[in-house]
Amino acid sequence: MVREQIEARGIRDATTLRILREVPRHLFVDEALSNAAYGDHALPIGFEQTISQPYMVAFMTEQVALGPRERVLEVGTGSGYQTAVLARLARTVFTIERIPALARKTRERLTALGFENVFYRIGDGTLGWPSAAPFDAIVVTAGAPVTPRALASQLAVGGRLLVPVGERSQQVLRVLSRLENGAIEEESSIPCCFVPLIGQEGWGEGQA
Ligand code: SAM
Repeated sequence: MVREQIEARGIRDATTLRILREVPRHLFVDEALSNAAYGDHALPIGFEQTISQPYMVAFMTEQVALGPRERVLEVGTGSGYQTAVLARLARTVFTIERIPALARKTRERLTALGFENVFYRIGDGTLGWPSAAPFDAIVVTAGAPVTPRALASQLAVGGRLLVPVGERSQQVLRVLSRLENGAIEEESSIPCCFVPLIGQEGWGEGQA
């Protein structure tokens, strides 16, 4: 997976590559799908949600460039695969999932795998986690109609926010950075295709 899908597409950061080799992706999908876990695609995880494509996880991980002392907010816990990768890189991961049963299942999985630097919340991640802010990095793993302003406001100086923005089924990854003077710089990165970010600063439930 790492050689053919990730290195071959230009991901070079040695730490990102090592962690993707070490985190056992097949443990983040149902047993019936474990043979497909290392394929070049997203996979269903129930609740109409998906575990993201390995390349997308690698790209976002390299792009967010976490240091070992940093605190990161993840919006969209899903299967917990990206959470696990972030938890291997950062000091602390705060992760929010809006579907309670999925959040509980993933929390059990990550706890059983020994992850102790992850804090969990069930709710609307478009509003961020104000009591734990500011964050050195924020990674959103669902697609928003516009960049959620609450998330941008929770970035520390030097902080990076990665969020897919666009249509319900097709987006562009936006990268926001908070500069020394407090201003926010925003640029577009690669096209991507995430499930919708549903919430107050995201899509409405059932909205086309
Ligand atoms: N990184 C995850 C993985 O690899 O398994 C990706 C999970 S999936 C692509 C996106 C997740 O975002 C889904 O589990 C979905 O329920 C969740 N989600 C959507 N809107 C959300 C919101 N407002 N707050 C928190 N989670 C949300």
